[in-house]
Amino acid sequence: MANLPSEPEFEQAYKELVSTLEDSTLFQQHPEYRTALEVAAVPERVIQFRVVWENDAGELKVNRGFRVQYNSALGPYKGGLRFHPSVNLSILKFLGFEQTFKNALTGLNMGGGKGGADFDPKGKSDAEIRRFCQSFMRELSKHIGADTDVPAGDIGVSGREIGWLFGAYRQARNRWEGVLTGKGLTWGGSLIRPEATGYGLVYYVEHMLEVSGNGTFAGKRVAISGSGNVAQYAALKCIELGAKVVSLSDSKGALIAEGDNVFTPEDINTIAGLKVERKALTAFDHQSKFRYIEGARPWVHVGNVDVALPSATQNEVSKEEAEVLVKNGVLAVAEGSNMGCTQEAIDVFEGERREKGAKAVWYAPGKASNCGGVAVSGLEMAQNSQRLPWTEKEVDDKLKDIMKNAFYNGLETAKSYVKSQEGELPSLVAGSNIAGFVKVARAMHDQGD
Ligand code: GLU
Repeated sequence: MANLPSEPEFEQAYKELVSTLEDSTLFQQHPEYRTALEVAAVPERVIQFRVVWENDAGELKVNRGFRVQYNSALGPYKGGLRFHPSVNLSILKFLGFEQTFKNALTGLNMGGGKGGADFDPKGKSDAEIRRFCQSFMRELSKHIGADTDVPAGDIGVSGREIGWLFGAYRQARNRWEGVLTGKGLTWGGSLIRPEATGYGLVYYVEHMLEVSGNGTFAGKRVAISGSGNVAQYAALKCIELGAKVVSLSDSKGALIAEGDNVFTPEDINTIAGLKVERKALTAFDHQSKFRYIEGARPWVHVGNVDVALPSATQNEVSKEEAEVLVKNGVLAVAEGSNMGCTQEAIDVFEGERREKGAKAVWYAPGKASNCGGVAVSGLEMAQNSQRLPWTEKEVDDKLKDIMKNAFYNGLETAKSYVKSQEGELPSLVAGSNIAGFVKVARAMHDQGD
């Protein structure tokens, strides 16, 4: 690949997957999967396009739009759209690659893809964002469809943007179909979809705590980063289960609960309201209970915590931060974000897991622990195909089952393919990587890819 431009984020995600496969007995048991890995590393298709839109001053602006259609062995390409100035092909390839195996772990028939644009919604008016969405979809609509590729939201794309994108698709193609997920509840969306990633993350960690002999969320101190959709609903579910949520953050800084203070559901709802107005956490009146630390992430400022849930963006836990979390007794670290931990941070958690046996820190990679979001997207697709909405309980029960299966699939796969010491917790990162990869590789093999 020496003649290709460097793609640091993609290479990080690829190496992370490959190192766990190499360290296991997978390729001894299935030598044919080496070729499948080489093939699966290359996206089936990359679409790159120009997005021209008009700002409120009547000036024309241009951005780069992308859709990476990574793998369709298990179903239509499926994965979110990210609007953020950092978006480039390396980031979207890393996200699409991860998404392929994440979607496999949901047990539903979804391939993997990811897209977006280097458009920064911050500081833009509603009308500018709407016009951007419409221009973006004018081109994207040619490449997607209910059985081809079904995008959803990601950073910078929430329910409001999905609405504008969906309307533009309907007009461009003259088709009303469930071609995006995360739709409004009155026009094809699923109950629990907005909550799904955060709730699913907490359901997954409940199994980690139980299996490691650490009980339930009741009374546990939980550090969360981020303050968007994933962080908000993870926090609300933790609080509902009796945990103490002690931090949130955004790109400008961290909000840490002081002393015995904790975030209440009212605090989270107030912050959610600020996010809808696209305001920063600095706008939250925190004087009485919280400390705001500019430019910081929560991990070294939260003191002793039992659970850490990175839920902002990629590479948001460094080696040094991982070491502090371990020193402060963290029991479970599970990513709500995609690739939330750097490789060095994962190495710290995995090293501690091996050394300390059952009371060690246990790390779960985002492709397993945050698969609840895309899983409920899959359930939204099923409801759209049936043209029947399911109740909140039906969707939530299915989400719980999916998270349980994703957890035990990773756990049992690790036991089958990774040698471990007596009493050692199995590696969820290796088990989830192998389980997701084997499902995709087997489908590719069966289909003659
Ligand atoms: N962006 C979310 C993820 O990273 C959801 C994708 C989807 O629902 O298609 O999994």
